[in-house]
Amino acid sequence: MTLTVQPYRESVGLRTGRLHIGGEWIPARDGATWTHIHPATGEEIGDIAVASAEDVDDAVAAARRAFDAGEWSNARAGTRIAVLRRTAELLRTHADELRRLQALDNSVPVSFGSVYATSVDVAADAFDHHAGWVDKIGGQTLPPYQGGDHLAMSFREPLGVVGAILPWNAPFLLFAQKVAPALAAGCTVVLKPSEYASFTVLRMVELLFEAGLPAGTLNVVTGTGDPTGERLITHPDVDKISFTGSREVGGRIVEASAGTLKRVSLELGGKSPALVFADAADVGVAAATTVGAVTLGLSGQACVSNTRALVQREVYDEFLAAAEGMAAAVTYGDPFDPAVMSAPLINGKQLDRVLGYIEKGRAEGARLVTGGERLGGEYAAGNFVAPTIFADVDNGSTIAQEEIFGPVLSVVPFSDEEEALALANDTRYGLGAGVFSADAQRAFRVSRRLRAGTVGINGFQIEPHLPFGGFKESGLGREGGQSSVEAYTELKTVMMPLGDEMM
Ligand code: NAD
Repeated sequence: MTLTVQPYRESVGLRTGRLHIGGEWIPARDGATWTHIHPATGEEIGDIAVASAEDVDDAVAAARRAFDAGEWSNARAGTRIAVLRRTAELLRTHADELRRLQALDNSVPVSFGSVYATSVDVAADAFDHHAGWVDKIGGQTLPPYQGGDHLAMSFREPLGVVGAILPWNAPFLLFAQKVAPALAAGCTVVLKPSEYASFTVLRMVELLFEAGLPAGTLNVVTGTGDPTGERLITHPDVDKISFTGSREVGGRIVEASAGTLKRVSLELGGKSPALVFADAADVGVAAATTVGAVTLGLSGQACVSNTRALVQREVYDEFLAAAEGMAAAVTYGDPFDPAVMSAPLINGKQLDRVLGYIEKGRAEGARLVTGGERLGGEYAAGNFVAPTIFADVDNGSTIAQEEIFGPVLSVVPFSDEEEALALANDTRYGLGAGVFSADAQRAFRVSRRLRAGTVGINGFQIEPHLPFGGFKESGLGREGGQSSVEAYTELKTVMMPLGDEMM
């Protein structure tokens, strides 16, 4: 049987992806397009426009005009709140359609829609949450430091035109985590989705306009890193780049920002550890959770997955046996089949990269417990790699240090808490970490010493009101809740003498 997703294209109503500039859906000026190949089947799914530098200039100009006109940036709070709340409702109403579109984009199975962190529900909640901030973005009234009769106040002003750049792996969540707070703060946006997940994002944009967003407030430039992304990150009239993606492109954005000193926030990759102590309530659950994070849904293509399992020696064999069992239970294939649990790698380049890391793991002496190969047979046209577990991994080796972004778990043994912490923090990344222990004091003690932006104790969930981001090379800044409001505003101080004397 050959896998195909072609029949779903029509049922989902897929159209050629266009740019959205100043309220109009238009092709690229030079007619350039990019063809999306489905990662599970190798079929051509559809074309998106590739915005040229001139198209990006038009989008930035439209966003600037909209910002200066003030229809959104100066709108009464009630207007902004209503649009953001209506967007949340529309996302919920269209959840099923969006999940199906996503399955055509990145092949994340529709079954994964039931997982809150990657489903449409968390995007809808992010719009609701940020709607709640609109009338609470305030400053302070401060007393005079040197005495006298004057007034000093601070305000949070919308930052201006935001260039938001998305990766392909979690389009619902990441769209919402950038667009909702930027709009709540009164900014206007030029959004660049990933070329590997544009159709989902384009539909979300339509829903925002259906909810009443004024033309020019959100503009979309689909396309590739170069020319589309490059023009956005170097554009002199973009006030901020909010980026989620790889460490490499994040570094390029910091470099590019030097020319204009535009604000930059970065959500990048990770090599997050799970610390499994012998006193974990259930080592089997810890193993299933860890293996699940690198195999289910996104097949390990998630920034915050615990891709390094650090396991105390007393429960090491028990952990490995449970992990192997979990890996064997993972199902693949047609992302529209509700029984399918996992996804292929997003493209041929990523497939080669992951297989290269697996080779490296073998060469560096790690013990392959299961997996390690590309799937053949009916899966041969897709980029499927079997869930792969390496045991006895040296924490200094390549597969324990580099972000693989695939279904590969590296298991490293440890003897005591100090060693576990030293291994966990011995990485250039610091996005997430997990602690599995039934001893609450130990779990908190360890979580405070982990150099990571988010620590899950006996479990983990992404939620729209919690700050999320990375220590070290995992990023700059935080998204979620109040951190997002701060990320899309500038602080301004205004002062005024109240009498005749000069300040
Ligand atoms: P990527 O960096 O290859 O691409 C991300 C986006 O940047 C895409 O839209 C791409 O077209 C664009 N881009 C590429 N080159 C560019 C350039 N020179 N200038 C401007 N834009 C450019 O990443 P990806 O493969 O889409 O996503 C995977 C990466 O994202 C992983 O490293 C993962 O850890 C990270 N990620 C991080 C988070 C987080 O919240 N920290 C969440 C999801 C994914």
